[in-house]
Amino acid sequence: MKIQDIQAIQSLLASPKKIAIIPHRGPDGDAMGSTLGLYHFLIKNNHQATVIAPNDFPNFLAWLPGSETVKIFEKETEICTKILQEAEIIFTLDFNAFHRTGEMEHTLNKLNATFIMIDHHQKPDDYAAYTYSDTSYGSTCEMVYNFINFLNKKEDIDKTIATCIYTGILTDSGSFRFPGTTGNTHRIIAELIDLGVENTEIPVLLFDNSSFSRLQLLGRALQNMKIFEEHKTSYMTLTQEELDSFHYVKGDTEGIVNYGLSIKDIVFTAIFIENKDEGIIKISFRSQGGFDVNQFARDHFNGGGHSNAAGGRSEVSMEETVQKFEDLVKKLTL
Ligand code: 5GP
Ligand code: MN
Repeated sequence: MKIQDIQAIQSLLASPKKIAIIPHRGPDGDAMGSTLGLYHFLIKNNHQATVIAPNDFPNFLAWLPGSETVKIFEKETEICTKILQEAEIIFTLDFNAFHRTGEMEHTLNKLNATFIMIDHHQKPDDYAAYTYSDTSYGSTCEMVYNFINFLNKKEDIDKTIATCIYTGILTDSGSFRFPGTTGNTHRIIAELIDLGVENTEIPVLLFDNSSFSRLQLLGRALQNMKIFEEHKTSYMTLTQEELDSFHYVKGDTEGIVNYGLSIKDIVFTAIFIENKDEGIIKISFRSQGGFDVNQFARDHFNGGGHSNAAGGRSEVSMEETVQKFEDLVKKLTL
């Protein structure tokens, strides 16, 4: 961050402020960890802070400290709109364009608050007065740690804040495997563990928390997998009917896409998940190595993300969507 920006934010935060903190729609571990970590830090510094999520977070994140205080815009639109209108400062975390908040976009567009962005995605929009954007980081949580450090407030990081930050670093780094993971990431993790973070408990809460039907849904996705060996690509599908028959709840499809890369020599994978309510197919892309799925998602599926993990959407049927994907894949040399 620019030194002038840090100084300006320090003076902004020198007196108690009304602050809203927003993650992206469909908040994941990094979005919830970063917003709640920052929330606890701001509360500790006498601000009046509220995390407002565009829609609900998955159940496997409900144990995060402070999650019970999170307001859901989709459920409590009036109250949330009022909090947003009254906020003097609004932090937007783990996204960099208002449309990533879904319907909330229209409300955000009309606000006069001072926006502060902390994010690690490509191509940030320029709505924020202060933008801390850096795609070299594996997680927004790591950047929130830095941000608190920039403000000279590292001593404020207690077990609660550390737990939130740890969670986002863990989930967004694929358990410390993805390329954004650096020596610095591990040094921060070491500090967080020294602060008391339950580093053997948290992965259990996050990853060993499945219902039996969730595991059966994973089984179905794996059965549906198709492989294009000569293009080093795989993909899976889940229709609404399949989701329903396995009693799908929010969060159940999280992480399934990664199985597509676990096959030897496969470097590009996708999962297509039908959402009949929204009338779309939600797509997740993952790659290993040099193939840029962010660009692929931007070019062909109205999405974006990072070079090895991105998402997108399609508004045509599952069959047409998958056909389009197969046609594109057959032109790829990976
Ligand atoms: P996931 O596949 O886990 O939903 O998303 C992977 C990454 O791509 C995340 O960093 C997420 O923020 C980004 N992403 C997912 N869906 C979209 C989308 O529709 N548009 C954009 N710009 N990014 C997305
Ligand atoms: Mn993230």
